[in-house]
Amino acid sequence: MMMETHSCYVCGKNPLSKDEVGICKKLIDKKTTKFYCLPCLAEQLEVTEEELVAKIEEFKEEGCTLFK
Ligand SMILES: [Zn+2]
Repeated sequence: MMMETHSCYVCGKNPLSKDEVGICKKLIDKKTTKFYCLPCLAEQLEVTEEELVAKIEEFKEEGCTLFK
């Protein structure tokens, strides 16, 4: 079975963590083909990494399936 991995669209970090992929889907588009690592995503969205981490935790608490 092939493992699906994503690399950061900006810096090429690979593989991205489940959290990074999940938060991209959540904040960009569920069907996005571009993924970002946390620092690059933070820059894209003009937020801080801390805010993204807080969001990830929030989504996890809601039981979001993207982070399982
Ligand atoms: Zn990156």
